[in-house]
Amino acid sequence: MLTIVVSSLSGGQGKTTVSMLLGLLLSHRGHSTLLIDADPQHNLTDWLGLDLEQNSPTLLECIKSSVELEDCIYPLTMNENLFLIPSDDQLDNVQDYLANSGIGAMVLKRRLEPIAKTFEFCVIDAPPQRSQICMTVIGAGNVVVIPAEASVKGYGSLIRTIDLMSNLQGVGATQAQTIGIIPFRDRWIGANQSQESRSAIEGMKEEVGEELVLPSIRESERYKQAINQQKTLSALGYPDLEYPLEVLLEKIELIKQDK
Ligand code: ATP
Ligand code: MG
Repeated sequence: MLTIVVSSLSGGQGKTTVSMLLGLLLSHRGHSTLLIDADPQHNLTDWLGLDLEQNSPTLLECIKSSVELEDCIYPLTMNENLFLIPSDDQLDNVQDYLANSGIGAMVLKRRLEPIAKTFEFCVIDAPPQRSQICMTVIGAGNVVVIPAEASVKGYGSLIRTIDLMSNLQGVGATQAQTIGIIPFRDRWIGANQSQESRSAIEGMKEEVGEELVLPSIRESERYKQAINQQKTLSALGYPDLEYPLEVLLEKIELIKQDK
């Protein structure tokens, strides 16, 4: 299993968007894919239409190992290859557990070991805060993707995420490498890119190197449509808008082949 963490340390940077649409694309390509909602806001769980009953096992129970791992994994109706470990707002209760465990960053990695041969890909939607949950998620990853809004706020989010990555790598708390930055909500008016988008993306390229910055996700209502209808952009008839996700997918498939 190749585990992809989608992380960015600010709200509204496109983490859940990228996680969901990447999960849909991977499963459409026939890859067995596990999505993990690691955000107590549980947007990914909601967007995928999973209606949990109270006391249903979620990522909280998975991390605490208080129920069988299989009981935390739910099949999704839109594709037979797609599964979810959901979250709910109780997930915040896992922060103390992770902090007291001594090796918080290693816990999720250990918990997922039994299913390493069950799924080809795991995509984790990380929370926006630099929390214990965020660290255990990055600790579980093989690769990290950082979406960042094409704005001053997004540039700041990218800098904070890179800083966290190098701290965790420096102490051996993760083996994960950053494989791409995706500028999010890149604004164009006709053939003209907005000044703010252009300078934010230029700043990102200067910061991390041009080769790491993937094609950007354009500001578009069609992305919201895809999310609302739980469909890929190409299934909705907008394959051009899907291009950044396809480039990411190809990169991930190549890494998986070499693994
Ligand atoms: P949070 O940190 O709060 O979890 P996030 O990083 O997961 O946020 P998203 O929820 O993925 O960010 O995206 C923020 C908002 O942008 C969402 O409401 C989503 O519907 C919207 N959105 C998604 N794609 C686009 C797009 N291409 N253009 C404009 N808005 C978009
Ligand atoms: Mg989110």
